Amino acid sequence: MVDRAAGLTARVLGAAAGGGFPQWNCGCRLCRLVRAGDPRVRPATQVSIAVSANETEWIVVGASPDLRQQILQTPSLWPRAGLRDSPIAAIVLIGGDVDALAGLLVLRERQAFTVFAPRPMLDLLDENRIFDVLDPTVVRRETLVPLEPVPCGGGLVLTLLPMPGKVPLYLEDRGASEPEPGANYAALLEANGRSVIIAPACAEITAAVRRQLSRADLVFFDGTLFTDDEMILAGLGQKTGRRMGHVPVSGPGGTLEGLADLPGRRMLVHINNSNPIWHLDSPERRQVEAAGFEIAYDGMEVRL
Ligand SMILES: [Zn+2]
Repeated sequence: MVDRAAGLTARVLGAAAGGGFPQWNCGCRLCRLVRAGDPRVRPATQVSIAVSANETEWIVVGASPDLRQQILQTPSLWPRAGLRDSPIAAIVLIGGDVDALAGLLVLRERQAFTVFAPRPMLDLLDENRIFDVLDPTVVRRETLVPLEPVPCGGGLVLTLLPMPGKVPLYLEDRGASEPEPGANYAALLEANGRSVIIAPACAEITAAVRRQLSRADLVFFDGTLFTDDEMILAGLGQKTGRRMGHVPVSGPGGTLEGLADLPGRRMLVHINNSNPIWHLDSPERRQVEAAGFEIAYDGMEVRL
């Protein structure tokens, strides 16, 4: 008999990048196919991933603006007993972008849990009074120090891993032509001898990144764009993926090449609505799968 309590479970609450899939104001080919109900493309909400070592307490990495809908769609995150309850023991913030933290606002209602975040992200919360809807006397804010493991609830140990990145878009100088380097992070969660890394944003695959990611049985990695100039070619924007702080999936220095030798399972997540891998019949999707990578989707569950 499989002992479900002895491993580690990761549940993808949302697999899409900022804007979701379809994006509310996007008329690109893929977004239109989703709205038309084409079975070859699945709609997806913005990235959050829940992890548990015991299936009763969950740590949610990333607070997507879709978190309320994601909880409604996930019975294991519903109240267990009593008039006020949540299996969510903690939220881990690893990015300062809107799609990575705005979901905190839907968790008001005086429910106790802990927010773990590195200092720059806690500063964002402290500076923006709207986040005080999470009463600080009820919702604890704990500072994460890079590379220092901390117990984060439910028997899980959390380690913050630094990743190459840039500052959130809304903090950039509006006229900036180059990305402003900034703190960016991945989360390593470990329990019962199993480990998962959640890295939805990474600007470059360096030797240090590869070394960090090699530690995990499963890595959820930045799958924002298939090609660096995808947004430009599609007429959707003027920025390359690298300019936005995301290494492309394909091409020289891309993810398929850079993470080809990783020992654990590799799963693409934080997929932008312009990315052709969303289409189940696309050659790009086949290329990703042939390279030994998997593609996350909303509701996907992985047991380690
Ligand atoms: Zn679109």
